[in-house]
Amino acid sequence: MAEPKKRLTKSRSGARKSHDALKVASLSVCQNCKNTKLPHFVCSNCGFYNGKKVVKSAKESAIETKQKEQLKDEYALRQGNCASSFIRV
Ligand SMILES: [Zn+2]
Repeated sequence: MAEPKKRLTKSRSGARKSHDALKVASLSVCQNCKNTKLPHFVCSNCGFYNGKKVVKSAKESAIETKQKEQLKDEYALRQGNCASSFIRV
């Protein structure tokens, strides 16, 4: 294995390590829901950016998928070939 040619002084290694410290992430407040969010990012809670609805939130997309599944089930029941229900009357 390669060996260092000369000993590294405390000040040199200290100077290198001076940039290793972690910085605290700056947070801003969402204008819509007053939740904390990263600045210049879409709010993950409500999906608003700069006062406008940009992205569907996780809750809304979950509700939407549930509604779609219900519609699928209803359609399947109307067609008479519901694969999800095994109950026969
Ligand atoms: Zn928000």
